[in-house]
Amino acid sequence: MEILKYDLVIVGSGIAGLRAATAAAWTSGGKISIAILSKVQAMRSHSLSAEGGMSAVLYPEKTGDSLELHAYDTVKGSDFLADQDAVQILVEYAPREVRYLERIGVPWSREPDGRISQRPFGGMSIPRTTFAADKTGFFIMSTLFSETRRFDNIHVFHEHFVTKFIVENGEFKGVTAYDLKTGEFKLFYAKAGIIATGGAGRLYRFTTTAHSTTGETLGYALREGIAIKDMEFVQWHPTALVPSGILVSEAARGEGGYLINKEGERFMKRYAPQKMELAPRDIVSRAILTECAEGRGFQHETGMCYVGLDLRHLGEEKINKRIPFIRELAHKYAGIDVFSEPIPVRPAVHYTMGGIHTDTWGRVLTADGKWIKGLWAAGEAAAVSVHGANRLGSNSLSECSVWGRLTGEQAAKYAMETPALASPSEKLLDIAKREESRIFDVLLHKEVNAPSPYEVKRQLNDIMEEHFGPFRHASSMAEGLAKLKKLREYRSFRVVDSSKVYNQNLKDALEVDGMIDLALVIGVGAYTRTESRGAHYRLDYPRRDDVNWLKHTVAYLYGGEIKLTYTPVTITKWKPEERKY
Ligand SMILES: Cc1cc2nc3c(=O)[nH]c(=O)nc-3n(C[C@H](O)[C@H](O)[C@H](O)COP(=O)(O)OP(=O)(O)OC[C@H]3O[C@@H](n4cnc5c(N)ncnc54)[C@H](O)[C@@H]3O)c2cc1C
Repeated sequence: MEILKYDLVIVGSGIAGLRAATAAAWTSGGKISIAILSKVQAMRSHSLSAEGGMSAVLYPEKTGDSLELHAYDTVKGSDFLADQDAVQILVEYAPREVRYLERIGVPWSREPDGRISQRPFGGMSIPRTTFAADKTGFFIMSTLFSETRRFDNIHVFHEHFVTKFIVENGEFKGVTAYDLKTGEFKLFYAKAGIIATGGAGRLYRFTTTAHSTTGETLGYALREGIAIKDMEFVQWHPTALVPSGILVSEAARGEGGYLINKEGERFMKRYAPQKMELAPRDIVSRAILTECAEGRGFQHETGMCYVGLDLRHLGEEKINKRIPFIRELAHKYAGIDVFSEPIPVRPAVHYTMGGIHTDTWGRVLTADGKWIKGLWAAGEAAAVSVHGANRLGSNSLSECSVWGRLTGEQAAKYAMETPALASPSEKLLDIAKREESRIFDVLLHKEVNAPSPYEVKRQLNDIMEEHFGPFRHASSMAEGLAKLKKLREYRSFRVVDSSKVYNQNLKDALEVDGMIDLALVIGVGAYTRTESRGAHYRLDYPRRDDVNWLKHTVAYLYGGEIKLTYTPVTITKWKPEERKY
């Protein structure tokens, strides 16, 4: 086992992880050593696929926008579950982050007068989604990654799969990782850590997220006493391409696209008469599914019900300039010419509002609110919480950049103030050796009778789709929970490939190993929350219940079982009100 020492280890090289690295490098003036670990080649991280843009108030004097309005939209969009102090930080820092990204080279789209362009997005009162055509994630990632290359003290470990966060006596000590390229097992011994491992969309089958968005690290975190917050809030994006599930960005509706049912009707007028197609995602997704349930959807040959996303009236020039990628993907993946026919779309899992329980500054917490010293979390993996029960589109890239920066700065300061690392203790080495043995001696050497990880993942996806979808009910969820608990009895998986080098089969087994516990956190949280709020909709409790449920769910592992506790929502300015659009 190779032992590497770093001042700061960042797990994840999406926008949150890369931004944390550049902030830590700046803050420390190049004085601390920083490792970025990514289970995929760093530039293939999921953030790359973000399309529509990043929200920020840029020209308040010209547009009438304000930080206050951005904050209010976000809080209302969250169905009042967001922490309002965290939202305040989001909106204040987001414009600085847009300008920082511009300085280091992001080619934001422009207006003829030179201003950065901004487009409307769902639930936002004013166009404030800043974009680089409809390839925003690609441009931010390329620019941030290039920026990390300017610092000698940032080392990137591509294709290093983190299998464990090591926490001793409430303090972060490092991580263990399997180097997929060489098959080596490594201990990254560190003063500080940042978890930036993204979401968990692949718990479901029909999803817009990358295949690597599996969320196993949240399952691993539970095992170390780290709590997970508000995980029952899963976002369905209204417009995924049928039948593949590839995202058709909200930019299409932001630029003026309509949603139509098979009668040619713009049905959103019955669900959100003011905002229409630009209502928040939870509302539009449920509207599409209701159209389908009531027989007004189209039927695809695969059996999927869908509605049409109509761009025909936008004209060729606008489509080619502002949403060229959407035109391209509709053509390539559905054979649709957007100038002459609507795009077939339906809701798909897109984002996880919940994540690692942190305080407002991204410090990782236990269920009783104690900081795991030296550890932060940022981006989609974290629940700081600015999205509450429903995220507004384009607020995630802002969150990744803002909390990437904030956690990077804090971790760098912490690392500089902490004495140099001595050699790792015997106990630490023992933990790492046991983890190596768990992976290579137990998982790899391969119980012939254990189930295949692919079969378990298929069952997991089936359970999540059937029992924890956009419309939930106690009896169905109880059934789903019983099935999940059965899946959890599998302690080992059949890994057929016995090589250590590039063993994707072993990597897939490691993912499934962490995903089951996380699925259970969603299940238990959803079953227990007897109300409807944001993306969590219960047919048996269709109303929001602020008296009993205006609180965050905090899940943790105790005696091998998922337990729940609750923490209050921070309300500074905006009292909960009925959400109308
Ligand atoms: C198709 C699509 C388009 C989107 N468009 C937008 C948009 O326009 N605007 C917006 O605000 N939001 C958008 N979102 C949401 C947004 O893209 C994500 O929330 C955001 O990119 C997440 O970034 P991140 O840095 O937190 O994590 P990610 O970019 O998901 O990166 C996760 C990182 O963690 C690493 N990792 C995970 N597990 C392990 C492990 N076990 N070991 C080692 N490394 C690990 C991965 O390799 C990766 O580097 C979109 C989402 C989708 C699905």
